[in-house]
Amino acid sequence: MEKILNYIDGELRASTTGRWLEVIEPATATSYGQLSDSGDEDLELAVAAAQSAFPAWSRTPAEDRGRMLRRLAQKIEAMSEPLALAESIDTGKPITLTRKVDIPRAARNLHFFADAATQFASEAHYMEAGAINYTLRMPLGVVACISPWNLPLYLLTWKIAPALAAGNCVIAKPSEITPVTAWLFSRLCQEAGLPPGVLNILHGNGPGIGQAIVAHPGISAISFTGGTATGASIARTVAPEFRKLSLELGGKNPSIVFADADWEPMMAGVVRAGYSNQGQICLCGSRVLVESSVYEKFRDEFVTRVGALQIGDPLNEDTEQGAVVSLAHRDKILDCVEKARQAGGKILTGGSALEPDAERCRDGWFIEPTVIDGLAADSDCNQEEIFGPVVSLIPFEDEAQALSIANGTRYGLAASVWSGNIGRCHRLAEQLQAGLIWINTWMMRDLRTPMGGVKNSGVGREGGLEAMRFFTEPRNVCIKYR
Ligand code: NDP
Repeated sequence: MEKILNYIDGELRASTTGRWLEVIEPATATSYGQLSDSGDEDLELAVAAAQSAFPAWSRTPAEDRGRMLRRLAQKIEAMSEPLALAESIDTGKPITLTRKVDIPRAARNLHFFADAATQFASEAHYMEAGAINYTLRMPLGVVACISPWNLPLYLLTWKIAPALAAGNCVIAKPSEITPVTAWLFSRLCQEAGLPPGVLNILHGNGPGIGQAIVAHPGISAISFTGGTATGASIARTVAPEFRKLSLELGGKNPSIVFADADWEPMMAGVVRAGYSNQGQICLCGSRVLVESSVYEKFRDEFVTRVGALQIGDPLNEDTEQGAVVSLAHRDKILDCVEKARQAGGKILTGGSALEPDAERCRDGWFIEPTVIDGLAADSDCNQEEIFGPVVSLIPFEDEAQALSIANGTRYGLAASVWSGNIGRCHRLAEQLQAGLIWINTWMMRDLRTPMGGVKNSGVGREGGLEAMRFFTEPRNVCIKYR
């Protein structure tokens, strides 16, 4: 049985607490590893290691920091198949997805910030009164990166890469539910020769070691991705201390379908947006708003396509829908579906737990991809994040109504608009309350662009040079020369 250790000061160590947590494969509901359940002493060791590594790492030339990130990216590429397999076992998502998306993107994150390290520049401003201002962008020191279970290596690297590129040392905490790729990554850091203490990975649960990291006075900034309730609790801890905080939280994203959309790519795109990773991506389009003139046509075809998704063993090449991440999460999703049914929602397909054909997966946590209609835009099902393979359909009459429904939730992470009318697409892009808007596509990401939401979907932006700015402190210097 695999023992998943902390990575502190360049070494792999069991937690000083002596406690272990079980790591369970969602597709089989069996334990396949044990995870260090870190405590305060581990945190003190990690902070001390990061603090002592900081002076040298922050003074390392940006080009050399970039070279190190690139070496890590290449290590991931060289190990891509074992990593894809590990992530599929760890999360329950289809191996085709971890091969195509999660692992290549983790490497891309590191390549991108390897380049960004050398491109990062600061500003200078000339004043007619005879002075020049220049702004130094200083690394913050020791920062924390806390990432969720849905895209474990992808989001871990998305956070640590800009922090390291900007010259910070990092304490990272992956989700206790899906720790395996972070564990494999810590071994790659050793192989790549990352200086001890520059990156430290502490395993354990959120309310325990996660909360302790957030509250630690030695941590200068926190980059967090996870649920909105956890984000609010972290903000309460951090606010009185005025430490920097970036929160990437939940969403209730609309896919808005107009009658003039290019039908085939739209259908394929909206299905993908709804059900990728069993709907467990913060950017998934879980509310599909459809122009009423094509509502019935759309509904029938959507239900047919969703009903035909191949559910099965995530390790099979032809599986399109794997398991959801945990038993508790499966039950939460099914409970949301039941509440939607009680509120008058019509379950057009799916709606239940499922036992896949594969013998290996008989006890796994699978849910039929589900489509619901008949619920008001302000019903709980259309307001609260379910984070599972559940999509609700809502008809609309015109652009104004589509906009009002789309903006009518407390979230504002992402939206997609499907229409052949380019003027309308631009109008909506201007008025949609969302940090990320896709027109006739979904989840097409350019890493130079900022990523993040508005309203209860978070504050701060990650990605591109914004992320490197987040991990630095601007210091203005004004020189009077006349
Ligand atoms: P959680 O908020 O439960 O957890 C996220 C991370 O925070 C995990 O590592 C968790 O640890 C840790 N954590 C939990 N409680 C605390 C705490 N009090 N202090 C510090 N850390 C804590 O989210 P999930 O893992 O359930 O992820 C799903 C959520 O993430 C969804 O709501 C989704 O929308 C959101 N998300 C947002 C994204 C975005 O970019 N906006 C991207 C991806 C997901 P542990 O799991 O070990 O308890």
